Amino acid sequence: MAKHNPRINRQSYRRIRRNRRIAGTILIIILLALVALILFGVARLVTKDKPVDSESFAVSSSVSSEQKKPSSSSKDEASGSSSPEESSSQEEASSSEEESSAPESSAPDSSAPDSSSQSVSSQASSKPADPDDPYYESEMPMLVNPWVKMPEGFVPEVTDIGDGYRLEVTAAQAWHDMQAAAWDDGISLWVISAYRTYERQVELYEQKVAEYESYGYSEDEAKEQAGQWVAVPGTSEHSLGLAADLCSLEESFENTDKFAWLQKHCAEYGFILRFPKDKVEKTGISYEPWHYRYVGSNHAKIIMEEGLCLEEYLDKYGK
Ligand SMILES: [Zn+2]
Repeated sequence: MAKHNPRINRQSYRRIRRNRRIAGTILIIILLALVALILFGVARLVTKDKPVDSESFAVSSSVSSEQKKPSSSSKDEASGSSSPEESSSQEEASSSEEESSAPESSAPDSSAPDSSSQSVSSQASSKPADPDDPYYESEMPMLVNPWVKMPEGFVPEVTDIGDGYRLEVTAAQAWHDMQAAAWDDGISLWVISAYRTYERQVELYEQKVAEYESYGYSEDEAKEQAGQWVAVPGTSEHSLGLAADLCSLEESFENTDKFAWLQKHCAEYGFILRFPKDKVEKTGISYEPWHYRYVGSNHAKIIMEEGLCLEEYLDKYGK
């Protein structure tokens, strides 16, 4: 008996030590999980508190259904980001109801004579605009913003650009060429939102209004609230088929080499950064480094080179 005791002791010590080690490991795992959870929570909070930015709404709503706004019970929520059509369609909330300084930007006369845009383009870039450029647009770009609705019944001719997204035909070709050129430069670009129908926009908007009403808001209040999250129908450029959101709906996108490439080259393909950081008052939309609007290369080059937003461009050259 006495002989066995030390062995038993040694064994049980070993067992205790092993158990301690296991317990320690489990504890560490739990701690790590906790830290991860806390970090995730903080990240969520940060997203949540972002300014009412049309597109970041899409991100946060597809990531989490619990938001400050009435939780989106809607089906666009349910489908999450898995369906580009659906997820993209909810993204564009008009960010700003607070605008006082609505640009007097008369909607551009879309039938502006060629001469005007040609004279415009010649002022612009070092190289004169080349009408043989596939992205040369003789007409002035159509303006759609929180104050200027798209023409009633306007339905663009769109085409599939892959992954379930669609763009207006010329914009689609421009996008393909831009994507290919970026790829050749080692830059990978992809679309995360493109065309959405006016009807879809109406549907999303009305759902959101109804949601707010169900929370006890009056009709007017509900509309005002809803408008902060879903673009009022007719005010979303995505319904023109001329806008694409690229790669990321995070403001930090501006720090990527993708963004740098786009800043340098997007105009060659007729695209502009539509909502620049310093033009929020004029555009009525928060800074969106991911939202590119096709306007035609001749217009785009001036806009990008002169650091204008579309509203300013149309004010300056549109008449
Ligand atoms: Zn967009």
